[in-house]
Amino acid sequence: MPDQRSLILDKIRQDGAFDVVVVGGGINGIGVFRELALQGLKVLLVERNDFCSGCSAAPSRMIHGGLRYLENGEFGLVQESLRERDALLANAPHMVRPLPTVIPIRTVFSGLMNGAAGLLGLSEAPSSRGALAIKAGLALYDWTTRKRRALPRHNFRGARMTFAQWPALDPMLRFSATYYDAWISYPERLGIELLLDAGRLAPDSLALNRAEITRVGSAFELIDTTTNERFPVIAKAIVNATGAWLDSAIARLDASEKPAAPLVEGTKGSHLILNNEPLYQALGGHMIFFENADGRVCIMFPYLGKVLVGSTDIRVSEARRVRCEPAEADYILAAARLVFPAIPIHASDIVFTYSGIRPLPKSNHAFTGRISRGHSVHRIAGDIPQFCMIGGKWTTFRAFAEQAADAVLAELGRERLCGTLT
Ligand SMILES: Cc1cc2nc3c(=O)[nH]c(=O)nc-3n(C[C@H](O)[C@H](O)[C@H](O)COP(=O)(O)OP(=O)(O)OC[C@H]3O[C@@H](n4cnc5c(N)ncnc54)[C@H](O)[C@@H]3O)c2cc1C
Repeated sequence: MPDQRSLILDKIRQDGAFDVVVVGGGINGIGVFRELALQGLKVLLVERNDFCSGCSAAPSRMIHGGLRYLENGEFGLVQESLRERDALLANAPHMVRPLPTVIPIRTVFSGLMNGAAGLLGLSEAPSSRGALAIKAGLALYDWTTRKRRALPRHNFRGARMTFAQWPALDPMLRFSATYYDAWISYPERLGIELLLDAGRLAPDSLALNRAEITRVGSAFELIDTTTNERFPVIAKAIVNATGAWLDSAIARLDASEKPAAPLVEGTKGSHLILNNEPLYQALGGHMIFFENADGRVCIMFPYLGKVLVGSTDIRVSEARRVRCEPAEADYILAAARLVFPAIPIHASDIVFTYSGIRPLPKSNHAFTGRISRGHSVHRIAGDIPQFCMIGGKWTTFRAFAEQAADAVLAELGRERLCGTLT
């Protein structure tokens, strides 16, 4: 019996005419592929490596509203993220689960002025966040979800109650706040499930990994990179969902009107997985969402019997495969030691590291934490228009895919047949 890949290639060989070609099989490309296929379009998804092997394999694994984005004044993004978080808790409960989260707090007032200055664009640098600033953020979080409470509301604890529950936390703490977000156990597998779902409901649409596509005249050439076989393909529109590789892919897909400046810039982020039983026990099933010595927010939570800690946020000039460098591992270990100073945490505890490049919208912010984690679709005109997916995060992939699909549907004069939120 021919394997799945041969069947897909046979179909393309017999008929290479598609409504839309989606380039890039990370979560955003997969999301828009499924979204368009469910609207009755014939779609081809082309991924150069394996599905969800780029940035989509490297997240902190939080499915979250983005409490931190409130500091940037991105209320719309937080609202959208909370809606998508709750939808994922309902739609993928086998992988997305509630995550009780603790914020250790050292001061009362700090962060208020800096938060306001950040909103007014007067301050770039992060500063310590005190109890009042955190209380205001969490109250807003709860208020946003008041009409569909999927997760418990936040609460505050004084030092005594905090140490009663987490005795190993930094003894300098004065308060802690607990709130709920969610985490995903196997993000890449959810990506694969979405592909399988699209394949079941829309068998004319095809998803192929280990393949590339380039513009040749008024059409495209698909290359199976495992054999070098080439296939002619035509499409009415292209979705460029290549993440951090977006700007280099634009030229391959031949836009007549090239953007004057790059649309995407990358920041590299790495994580460690630690095998440290006292640390795992000290977490008590909670994530610690904490401020590092440099003011950056880091995270640590129990992950499949180990402890996941991250992350770094380092500007990179070029998209490429990346790995966690020793200096990054040192940075993350030092951050973890700040939270639980009495627990020995050594480099030898590291059992796994992973890294990815966040495809963020191009920005002038000096502090990478201030760059928006929002998303947008940029249309490049041409005989075959190209829709570029810029930014986004795992949590909001469905909303982003919906937005990109709606732009393509409008271009092709097609109606939306169904929604995907539920
Ligand atoms: C350190 C870190 C922590 C994060 N934490 C979180 C988190 O906790 N929660 C959250 O919601 N989000 C998080 N994110 C963000 C999230 O992971 C990304 O926003 C998301 O995975 C981006 O998906 P994408 O599909 O746009 O990009 P990618 O996953 O990078 O996909 C792009 C794909 O395009 C392919 N490609 C490139 N060029 C070509 C070409 N010419 N032809 C064919 N294919 C091509 C690549 O191989 C790649 O597979 C985090 C990201 C990082 C790096």
